[in-house]
This record gives sequence, structure tokens and C-alpha cells, in this order.
Amino acid sequence: MTKQRVYIFRVGDVSSDLLDNAALAIKENLPFDVEVLIYPQKLQPPISTFDWERMQYVASALVFGLVSKLGIKLKPYEKAIFVVNADAYEPPLNFVFGIALPSIGSGAVFLPRLRNETYGLPPDYNALISRLRKEVLHELGHLYGLEHCPNPRCVMAFSNSINEVDAKGEEYCERCRRLLESFIEGFER
Ligand SMILES: [Zn+2]
Ligand SMILES: [Zn+2]
Repeated sequence: MTKQRVYIFRVGDVSSDLLDNAALAIKENLPFDVEVLIYPQKLQPPISTFDWERMQYVASALVFGLVSKLGIKLKPYEKAIFVVNADAYEPPLNFVFGIALPSIGSGAVFLPRLRNETYGLPPDYNALISRLRKEVLHELGHLYGLEHCPNPRCVMAFSNSINEVDAKGEEYCERCRRLLESFIEGFER
């Protein structure tokens, strides 16, 4: 079976430690063999995708912009995740923790709203890592074909607040795991 591959890109200032944790979460949780590669260079978010009225990036435009700027053509067994140190929204939502665009195999996670400081709380690096792991697995799940899961503990549960992110686990539930396996088997046929 073709080995699945995930590329992780940093956009803006993102520590290597955060990216290493994201990579580890992917390797530990996907129910198939996956190679994770961290792109060494730091990317800048395309300024044309910034909404000056809202002072936020448009999430889908940012991902499309980065993919076209990089000129990457992903194979069906390759996915890309951008870890972005900037805030973004996607209509009709006034912010998003992340976004997945399965048609181009690419997604993004936006860091500012995963940080305690955004909510007037003292910094908590472990909480940031845990939230990043969850959001990366969530968007990757969408890229492999998963929808939102009704199980509030599952990493595929929809979260619209940081409390909801914290309430869910760092893993796919049994049902989502099985679906992931079947998507990959279907992909192989
Ligand atoms: Zn989602
Ligand atoms: Zn689930």
C-alpha cells in the first residue's frame, strides 16, 4: 500500500517544538502508516488574503494562496497542513481554529485563538500543544474524508469555542478510526 505522506508548513513565527508535536500527533493517531515531513523554511501569509476591515485573514483564500505560491502539486496520497501564527475567519463564521480544503488536499490551523493569552489567561504552553494536536488531527481528518462527529470526546467533534476544544480528546473515536481505515482502503482500490 502506498505510504501516506503529510507535509507540515510553518507560516509566520511558529516554534519548531510546536511543529514536532503536530508531527508526533499525526504519527501516533492515524490508523495507517504515514510519513510526516516538516518544511524547513518559514512562509509568510499572502497579504492579498488579508481582510483589512476585519483585520483577519480569509482562511480558505490563505490556504489557496500559499499552495499556489509554493507551486506544490500534491499527489492523492499527500496532504499539506499549514500551521499559521495569524488569526483567520471563514464566512459565515467570524473566526476559525482551522480549515480543511479536501479538493486540494490542504488545510490550516491558526494559532492565536489556541493561546490562553487571547482570553486574558496566563500562558499555558502545554494547553497550546494539546489544542494544536487536536486541531491538526481534526483538519487532517477532514482531508481524509471525515465529517464532524457527534461524539463530543472525539477529535472530529465540531468546536466553536476554546472550551469545546479543551473538552474533546486528542484522538479519533473508534467509529472515526474505522472510517479513516476504510477511506484509505477505498483509495487503494
Ligand atoms: Zn471541522
Ligand atoms: Zn468520531
